[in-house]
Amino acid sequence: MELQDLNIVVIGAGIGGLAAGALLARKGAMVTVLEAQDYPGGCAATFSRNGYCFDAGATIGCGFHAGAPMDTLGKELGITWPIVPERVAWQYRHRARLLDLQPNRLDILERFPHSAPFWAEQNALAKLLWHFSEGGLSWPVKGAGDLLRLARKGIAGFFGTLHLLPFARKTAHEWLASHGLHTDPDFVRFIDAQLLISVQTTSHHANAINAAIALDLPVTGAYHVKGGIGTVSRMLAGSIEENGGAVLYRNQVIRIDSVRRQVFGVETSDGSALAADYVLANLTHDSLAQFVEAEDEPASEKKEGPLWSAFTLYLGMEPAIFSALPSCHVQIIGGNGDLAEGNSIFVSVSSPDEPDRAPAGLCAVTISTHTRPEPWFEAKKRGESAYSELKDVYTERVLDVLSEQFPDARNVIRSITAATPVTWERYTGRNQGCVGGYPQTSLFKVRGPLTRFDNLFLVGDSIFPGQSLPGVVTGARRTIELLLQRTKKVGPQQQ
Ligand SMILES: Cc1cc2nc3c(=O)[nH]c(=O)nc-3n(C[C@H](O)[C@H](O)[C@H](O)COP(=O)(O)OP(=O)(O)OC[C@H]3O[C@@H](n4cnc5c(N)ncnc54)[C@H](O)[C@@H]3O)c2cc1C
Repeated sequence: MELQDLNIVVIGAGIGGLAAGALLARKGAMVTVLEAQDYPGGCAATFSRNGYCFDAGATIGCGFHAGAPMDTLGKELGITWPIVPERVAWQYRHRARLLDLQPNRLDILERFPHSAPFWAEQNALAKLLWHFSEGGLSWPVKGAGDLLRLARKGIAGFFGTLHLLPFARKTAHEWLASHGLHTDPDFVRFIDAQLLISVQTTSHHANAINAAIALDLPVTGAYHVKGGIGTVSRMLAGSIEENGGAVLYRNQVIRIDSVRRQVFGVETSDGSALAADYVLANLTHDSLAQFVEAEDEPASEKKEGPLWSAFTLYLGMEPAIFSALPSCHVQIIGGNGDLAEGNSIFVSVSSPDEPDRAPAGLCAVTISTHTRPEPWFEAKKRGESAYSELKDVYTERVLDVLSEQFPDARNVIRSITAATPVTWERYTGRNQGCVGGYPQTSLFKVRGPLTRFDNLFLVGDSIFPGQSLPGVVTGARRTIELLLQRTKKVGPQQQ
């Protein structure tokens, strides 16, 4: 069956669903995206409230450098992203220590000169990995075609592959140890803080290859997306519509209709039904399981460890206290305990060049911290007052950490809104509000897009290579690759 004859329904207008939808619409498929909210972007949305435009979760544009996934996607779709490179990706603050994360790593090398050989190795690894991922990653392997493609890449870059292999089974901590850096508590804390916000786990558990690419972000560059990160999803939605597709908001899918190994349509909360030849679910596997049991392999083989959710504050503030920052973003580490649960925060301030994002003289600030979802749902079960008490505790904790570095912070807050895992669950449809992707502990226990249905695929940050804008776009390409293979093998009517 020709792609042009296919009706493809995408559940969810997150970056993963939109990127897949936009690429398929560009190729001629009939694409309909159904989105529960009234705007696109999910975890990477920008929403309006009381005159502010807040980034909901993601704030940093990454993967936009030449040849990287967002750059390639834009070129393929004819989109020019409204981006500005940040001179400093973000500033790291721990007590009196301030480090600007810049492409040349100057501050880091000055503070930790003995780490130079580690960064040289990280740089070499990241270069290899970017090269290896060009044109997509057929991973996890499904069939002989994938093996052949991997083998071709492996042979073409034979010496690079040899260099990479030992890292595939190492943790980041073992990698640090190989440079004698594991005994420097300040350096380990710095690395752990970077890994937690990128690969969703710390050096003892993070896979070294995942860590190498995550630590590359300040080098390849962070970008400011004009209008907020949500501009990316709005442009992708626009591309789908320009190519004859539709993005329908306030359309929550509540049912996926299936018979044996085929899905044939979806139903939405307003009682509408839509037929589909193929369905792409921009959902986590747990959320998808609420509609259909879709696992293609025993779940035990893919358990990635406990997932994080987020506690987020959206603050309207007077911007003066941030005026000395070299970037719109600052990562603040509190005391010496665990990095999550308010003890480390990531703060993003709307740019002074974007007065439209806040009422006159003010700025829109998003602050996030990692939190486990369970206590929030338990509190919610106990009742509104227990839940709101917990919310107040976390709000104060986050503001305490912010005030350690910006003592005037509390005095310049004009409005405050908090989002908990309960909010994130309601807002993204993700079970337990688990956002931010999976902990990248192993390259061999990752999920791909396939489900037990022949024409239902996953897309988004629950599949390899996981979280971030470039991550989900790379994953979306893999979803399309497998979908196209299916359409070539056999049309959906004959399956
Ligand atoms: C706090 C935080 C900070 C982050 N920071 C960054 C960053 O700075 N840079 C970066 O690159 N990445 C960052 N990330 C990661 C990045 O935001 C995500 O990996 C990515 O946006 C996930 O996209 P997705 O396509 O998987 O789906 P999601 O964003 O989860 O989108 C799924 C969409 O599906 C919709 N939906 C769900 N169920 C249904 C249904 N039944 N019917 C219809 N629609 C439905 C939801 O409403 C949502 O719009 C951050 C994430 C978080 C949470």
